[in-house]
Amino acid sequence: LPKPGKHDFIVIGSGVAGSFAALHAARAGSVLLLTKTAMQDSNSLYAQGGIAAAMGGEDSPGSHYRDTVEAGRGLCDDEAVRILTEEGPQRIRELLALGVRFDKEGDRLALGREAAHSAPRIIHAGGDTTGAEMQRGLHQALRDASVDAREGHVVLRLIVEGGICRGLLARMNGDIVEHRAAAVILAAGGGGQLFSHTTNPPNANGEGAALAYEAGAELMDMEFFQFHPTALTREDAPRFLISEAVRGEGGLLLGQGGERFMVGVDPRAELAPRDVVARAIWAQMERDHLASVNLDLRHLDGDRVRGRFPQIYATCLRFGIDITADLIPVAPAAHYMIGGVRTDLDGATSMPGLYACGEVACVGVHGANRLASNSLLESVVFARRAARAAAEYVRDWAPVGAGQRGSGLLAEQRDSSKPRRDLDVAEPAGMETDVATREELPEVMWQNAGLVRHRDGLSQALRRLGDGSASKQHAVAALICQSALLRDESRGVHFRTDYPQTDDGWRGHIVLQIDRAPQFEAG
Ligand SMILES: Cc1cc2nc3c(=O)[nH]c(=O)nc-3n(C[C@H](O)[C@H](O)[C@H](O)COP(=O)(O)OP(=O)(O)OC[C@H]3O[C@@H](n4cnc5c(N)ncnc54)[C@H](O)[C@@H]3O)c2cc1C
Repeated sequence: LPKPGKHDFIVIGSGVAGSFAALHAARAGSVLLLTKTAMQDSNSLYAQGGIAAAMGGEDSPGSHYRDTVEAGRGLCDDEAVRILTEEGPQRIRELLALGVRFDKEGDRLALGREAAHSAPRIIHAGGDTTGAEMQRGLHQALRDASVDAREGHVVLRLIVEGGICRGLLARMNGDIVEHRAAAVILAAGGGGQLFSHTTNPPNANGEGAALAYEAGAELMDMEFFQFHPTALTREDAPRFLISEAVRGEGGLLLGQGGERFMVGVDPRAELAPRDVVARAIWAQMERDHLASVNLDLRHLDGDRVRGRFPQIYATCLRFGIDITADLIPVAPAAHYMIGGVRTDLDGATSMPGLYACGEVACVGVHGANRLASNSLLESVVFARRAARAAAEYVRDWAPVGAGQRGSGLLAEQRDSSKPRRDLDVAEPAGMETDVATREELPEVMWQNAGLVRHRDGLSQALRRLGDGSASKQHAVAALICQSALLRDESRGVHFRTDYPQTDDGWRGHIVLQIDRAPQFEAG
């Protein structure tokens, strides 16, 4: 192996979470940021609608908190949501100061509406290219701060010594390189590519969660995978996201006969939470044997639509759809990994020396259903907290090259009050010979662990995933299926046709750790 590098911090991932964490960590020590492909390749780049924060005169963090908790179906961590909504406006001001150019009306931020937000609070950039502008601004700030950011490094394994994360192994141009640091901040994003229909780009394949799991850190809430209700659905087009903000501007969902089917489903109609809208669309598609339903913007002012959604307009036009004049065919697609590496309120995982933030992490802000535009906010709010906690850890406990002690205290303190019990795993793993290939896996997941689930399908998927050892994707997919099979109820994005009701006995979290039975943590 080449000579190990030594840093105070290594950040894995160059999305909004990794970039923001690296900027904050750089104020406390040396940072190495490693990312799999090019700096901009990430879910963050594709974020359209915006970032939620109570910045409007009529709005308040309390109202944002209530909307978030209501969408989360009883599983949000109250304190995490309080932090998210109260610190949100400060982080928006910080992003503006860093040079991120959010859209304005006059000298005020332009605020959009999105489903299940009770006030206009969606801050956006370039109309519908919010993530790209945040990435541009943050990457410029990283260059200004001379952060050592390296592309083309695929992190393969975390180095764990004496139960403490001490660095990682990465593949770079076919070579394996070792990097050591006092603290590692994992910001490797989500895993939409585990499903055959997804809004996520190719590098969002769940690897980050697998890295932490294989190293021995706890994961949580893996059964909760959000399916976006409205992805463009045409044979000749990728599942391009049609942002929630389009419905916020007045877009209507129409069934085969032109009827507004959401009116009969929820009093908020098209602005109901994502899980409600996604399942209503699925029900329409099943009932009428359709590949998609229609999104209608034809009644809206064309200039406003083009101005607010330039990217959606241009992309749809490439496929012959003028969104101001034509109906847009849409269907649900895998979108956001709600579960992930379990952290406390400061990004500390159950493993000393390892911090996590952004989509790969699970701090509990989304509960069982993520509210639109809360994930970019989560990424910046908790990336900053993770970087600061990691800096404290490095300063107090683990000087580079010397420290063998890890605090992990935050995580321990937080856990101690919560009762846990072991869950029985019904399916013995590892007996199957017909293990799905990497190419087959996404279709196995879509068919059996997608928007609508059943015990039989989940068991079938688990059999095709074997013992999860075939790849990092097999490992994470198996954890999703195992958790979904254990949770005998429907709640938020997790819907089981064999258990269609919400069951108060399942109000809590499924926590997973390698070489241990899954545990249920109440509350
Ligand atoms: C189409 C689309 C639209 C969206 N719209 C919105 C929106 O409007 N508002 C909102 O709040 N959220 C939105 N989201 C969700 C949001 O974009 C993401 O949740 C958020 O950007 C996640 O940021 P992140 O930094 O955690 O992960 P990412 O941005 O995905 O970054 C992960 C990084 O980790 C790197 N990486 C992964 N594995 C490895 C490895 N093994 N080694 C090295 N590097 C690795 C990746 O290459 C990448 O750089 C949208 C998502 C999509 C896909």
